[in-house]
Amino acid sequence: MAMKNTAVIEVLKCLRRRYPAVGALEIGEPWKVLVLVILSARTKDEQVLRLAPRLFRRFDTIEKLAVADVAAITATINTIGMYKQKAKNLKGMAERVVQEFDGFVPSTMEDLMSLKGVGRKTASVVLSACFDVPAIAVDTHVFRVSKRLGWAKGKTVERVEEELCDAVPKKNWREINRVFVPFGRAICTPAPRCWACSVKDLCAYKQKNLNVPANADAVLAAIAKREAEFVRLKREVVQSL
Ligand code: SF4
Repeated sequence: MAMKNTAVIEVLKCLRRRYPAVGALEIGEPWKVLVLVILSARTKDEQVLRLAPRLFRRFDTIEKLAVADVAAITATINTIGMYKQKAKNLKGMAERVVQEFDGFVPSTMEDLMSLKGVGRKTASVVLSACFDVPAIAVDTHVFRVSKRLGWAKGKTVERVEEELCDAVPKKNWREINRVFVPFGRAICTPAPRCWACSVKDLCAYKQKNLNVPANADAVLAAIAKREAEFVRLKREVVQSL
């Protein structure tokens, strides 16, 4: 267990250095973070960040979102997948927050999960980002990366979350999603780029892809460009609030 903990701490130290920023969608007041995370279901964070300024210009309070026509919300977010359902979820969520919680996003897992469009992952992101509550939000990147590293073996998101809670010291729970998401997006992708991975010596994955491809420089440049685009998009959202 001591060995395992040492590896976990080392990996986190390394990834924290590489990905020091908070999550891409951790922007503004809790209701805005909640909105962004609801919109990000099965949608790239970049797409969510691109529509965020016009969404928050049009609905600059949760009360306005609560009384908006679903059609107006739909028209504002129709650049992303499942926008019709997501528009209904946003309105339903906002109505309940206004009516049941006096306009304040609740800060418990149970209350958050009572809101429309909010599952355990979304609730965990909000708890951890907005309320300093230790939580591990397991999305597709966290699921894949933690299994490859050998920190979890479960076949379900719930089981992987339990295993991670076991393997990772509680004080580090909040940073798992923050570092695994950009890492999983760039390096530990579905076809992993182990040749560019800074934690490969601490990883249990047996089929490491260590062959440096001929276009390695181009791949790394594309990763850097995408990261810079994230910073730019996030800055735009922050400036629009
Ligand atoms: S060595 Fe490969 S599989 Fe392991 S964490 Fe790095 S990129 Fe992922």
